[in-house]
Amino acid sequence: AAPAPAGLLEDRLLPLLRAVPDHPVPGVTFRDITPLLGDAGALRAAVEGMAAALPAGTEYVAGVEARGFVLGAAVAVAAGAGFVPVRKAGRLPREVLAEEYALEYGTATVELHADALPAGARVVVCDDVLATGGTADAACRLVERAGGEVASVAFLLELAALPGRARLEEHGRDVRSLLR
Ligand code: AMP
Repeated sequence: AAPAPAGLLEDRLLPLLRAVPDHPVPGVTFRDITPLLGDAGALRAAVEGMAAALPAGTEYVAGVEARGFVLGAAVAVAAGAGFVPVRKAGRLPREVLAEEYALEYGTATVELHADALPAGARVVVCDDVLATGGTADAACRLVERAGGEVASVAFLLELAALPGRARLEEHGRDVRSLLR
């Protein structure tokens, strides 16, 4: 079936996201996607909507730990692509590439298996929420250092008041978010 128009999807899915004030630190409003994940119809609509927005020829979805695993693996299956994990430091068992970045709250390092991608692979980086864009930016650098090509960057939710989209677009990324 054709994907639902964006406005209808937002009407249906946005009420299933919970705003949690001052989590995990004072001043941050955390967007909790778990009620959406727990609703079978909403989960399917979200995954199918994100999969429909992938560029043609996407071969891999690179999901960012941890909520980018849940959505990214489902989107990969829906789109007929493979899944590649971008993990927090120290979790992947073999040789890794690492990128450090600043978060909305704190700093972190993400890693990718050095041999995760064949040369020139068309990859979509996937996460649940786009905030400052630092995480996705680092994940894109990892994909490129591993020899892949970043076809787009896909999110369930874009926090439009934050500069994530501008930051990623400044670096030439094609940003696709299902909800705003
Ligand atoms: P950023 O690098 O600032 O774009 O942050 C993106 C990452 O942090 C994603 O993995 C999100 O899951 C998480 N994140 C950042 N801010 C929020 C927020 N306000 N609500 C939920 N998750 C967030």
